[in-house]
This record gives sequence, structure tokens and C-alpha cells, in this order.
Amino acid sequence: MSFTSLGLAEPLLRAVAEQGYDTPSPIQLQAIPAVLAGRDLMAAAQTGTGKTAGFTLPMLQRLMESKRKVSPNRIRALVLTPTRELAAQVGESVRNYGKHLPMRSHVVFGGVSINPQMMATRRGLDVLVACPGRLMDLYNQNAVKFDEVEILVLDEADRMLDMGFIRDIRRILALMPKKRQNLLFSATFADEIRELATGLLDNPAVIEVAPRNSTAERIEQLVHPCDKANKIALLSHLVTSNNWQQVLVFTRTKHMANRVAETLDKNGVSAAAIHGNKSQGARTRALAGFKDGSVKVLVATDIAARGLDIDKLPQVVNFELPNVAEDYVHRIGRTGRAGAAGHAISLVAADEGKLIKAIERLTKQNIPCEQVAGFEASRETLDNIARGIGAPLRKEPRDPSEQRRAPRPQAQGQRQGAGRSAANGNAGGARTGNDGKPKPQGGQRPADGAGKPAQARRPRRASHNQ
Ligand code: AMP
Repeated sequence: MSFTSLGLAEPLLRAVAEQGYDTPSPIQLQAIPAVLAGRDLMAAAQTGTGKTAGFTLPMLQRLMESKRKVSPNRIRALVLTPTRELAAQVGESVRNYGKHLPMRSHVVFGGVSINPQMMATRRGLDVLVACPGRLMDLYNQNAVKFDEVEILVLDEADRMLDMGFIRDIRRILALMPKKRQNLLFSATFADEIRELATGLLDNPAVIEVAPRNSTAERIEQLVHPCDKANKIALLSHLVTSNNWQQVLVFTRTKHMANRVAETLDKNGVSAAAIHGNKSQGARTRALAGFKDGSVKVLVATDIAARGLDIDKLPQVVNFELPNVAEDYVHRIGRTGRAGAAGHAISLVAADEGKLIKAIERLTKQNIPCEQVAGFEASRETLDNIARGIGAPLRKEPRDPSEQRRAPRPQAQGQRQGAGRSAANGNAGGARTGNDGKPKPQGGQRPADGAGKPAQARRPRRASHNQ
């Protein structure tokens, strides 16, 4: 199958050829004809599947065909994304694929001056790519109106809900004309996404493509049990002893991302942190350094890493496991792109036994566990990993108001696994399996704040600038 047979117009085919693509990816094969036919779309697809071209190409063609002239402060197509990085990347795709068409496009997000953005929207735009927070700021200042929107794209809708953008999204939806084309992209079809889709989409084409690299065979995964205090030293040892040239490291917090990057840098391993508290300039510099090889280790929080387009990443390290098991799949999906072998290593401490068990349940696999000589974990760490206990799991509320509806905590220990034979006392560095049969709870996420007093829980509410 070629792009030509999908019904794309010549200026778009030329732009695709200039990008060097000759074969459409599975999501493009399905999405492009459906969008060209004017249908709404509900697509489960992650970064790395080629989803951006999957909606950008037919969206540009629809705009070209409808030939409506754009009025001042109005936009014809709106693409909403959760993060600045993703917005910038989608904006770049719109520019690249639309370079032979007379289209005006712009990208807006927080953390940078609003004035140039107001100047850009003043004349009207064919395509606006935006993060919801800044878009609402622009709307509130009368810089943009939504009453001429022909096409709406929600990109990474699940992440936008995670980040608490649902109210902004609903406000924006209410300001749009009823008759328009809606395209929704999400990594999963979780209940919240289905609920959003029900009110938004009209008889949508439904597309699900497997995340390109989430399968166990494509990514070699490994757990290194490790005491918390030794994690940075172990990471530094792994980078140098394996001579890793490009590794993406995930931490749970911005503070930890900074600490890890600074300590590695002091140890002579070039590293940079990327997260929502960094200025846009610092983030762009860190990413550019990582891509050109001058920064070997990029340390990122889940939210900041989301949407980063880094091809063929050889190595991902979970410095800390994510609180939400699904995020593990997103994280390791960053490695092994485009047919290359990928490696994902998780450093697991005493308080993360429960998290690794939840990940194994979700992904229906046992992750091999291997001690690293010189960094052997304590008995407590090994025991916790073996028994699947440790920090209580939190299902993070999508929205602050959801906290009140959160289920009651489960009793501590109710969900403990039977044991993880691999971790126990296996100090010699040999790799073994573990018990890991899925428990009767199946793939369900654990209750919000299991084992933790309710007042200790806080919703994840990222700033609009993330
Ligand atoms: P996305 O999932 O949209 O973030 O795209 C992931 C990467 O795949 C980007 O670097 C795209 O430039 C690239 N890409 C998109 N479509 C194709 C294609 N048909 N063939 C090869 N690479 C592609």
C-alpha cells in the first residue's frame, strides 16, 4: 500500500515523499481514508505509531477542499495536546506536511510570552495547535474564537484528562459549532475516554493499533533490585560500564529528576533534566543535546517525556517505577523504535514491590530480576519485591472533584502476591524468572490510596505549562 492509494492530494504526497516516507503505517492506513471521508474518529494509538501524520495529512486535505476563508481571530482546525513538547512536534508536522499548501498555522502553549501568540491569532489561522490552559487564556482575552472550527483533534486525550484539563476541554467544546469533524486520539480507551467520546463523537470510525513496541518480545526488560540510597550510584555504574550513549531515565518527581541529572553530571556522565519547571529554552536545549549526543542521559518525569519524539532510543531506565502501571508501558514504549532492539531496566527499591507486581499483572508477564554485583540489595528490598509489597498504590484521580468519589482504601496486604523467587538472595547476578501468575484481581487498577489515610492523597494536577 502506498500513500497515493489513500486518496491524498498531490501537494500532500509531495510533502510526504520529501519526509522520506513511502509506506503508510497501520494507523495511517486506517485513519487517512476515514478522515478524508469526513468521519469522526476514535483511535487508540501512541506516540511512535505515526498517528500525527495519520490525522494531519487528511485534516489539511479537508481544509484545502472546503476552501473556506478564515476570519480574524477565528480558527478552522484546532489540535489540542497535553504538553508543550507534543504541541511543538505536532506544529512542526503541520508545517512540514502543509508546506505546499497555502495554510496558516501556529502553535500556542504556556510558559512563553502570550503577545506573539495574540498577534498570530489576530489574522485567523487555518490550523492552531494548542495546550488547553494557554488556549483558554487566549480566549479570555478575546484573541481567539471557536465559532468557525471545522475540525477538532484531541491528541493524547487520556493524558489531557490525567492532567486535569477536562474542564478546559468541556468549555472549549461548548463554544464550537455543533457541526464539525472530531478526531480523538488516546493511548487507551479507558472509561473516562469512552465517556468523553460518547458526548463528542458522531458514529466514529474506531481504530486500535498495537503500540509499536509495547510487546515483551521487542523490548528486553529487566529489574535490578536496589536499595534507594544506592540508586544513583548504580545508574552511574550502568551507564559507564555498559558504555551507554543515549539513555532516557524516568523519575516520579521533578526534584528527583534534577538530583539524578546533577549527580550524574558531577560524576562525569553528561546529563540533563527535563520537566515542567524548566524554561522552554532549557527544555529545548536539553532535548537537542540528547539528540546530537552531547547529553548522554536525559532524566524526565512522565509528563515531560510524553510526546517527545526521539527515534530508535536504545535504552530506557525506570529510576523509580511509576505510580500508575499503564505509565510503565508508555515509558518502555520509547525504546526499540523502528525495528531496533530496545532495552528497559527498572531499579526497584524496598517501597516499590507492589508497583512492580501491578506492572507484571497489567502486562501479563514476568520481568526477569537480576542483582548487580557491588550493588546488591538488602534483604528487606528483596523480600518486598518477592512478596509484592511496598508503597501503597494510588490510582491518581483524573480530576480534583473525583477525589470525593474515590473508592475506599483496601486493607494493606490484601493484594500481596505469593512471592518473587528471583529476587530472593540471588546475589550472584544470575537472571531467573519469578512466580508471577496473574492474580484473580486481573488487570484492574488498585483502589485509590490503598492502605493510605484519605487525607494523605493528593490528585495529580499538573500546571498548564507542563
Ligand atoms: P508519531 O507517532 O506521529 O509521533 O510519529 C513517530 C515517528 O514516525 C515520527 O518521527 C514520524 O516522522 C515518523 N513517521 C510517521 N509516519 C511514517 C511513515 N509512514 N513511515 C516512516 N516513518 C513515519
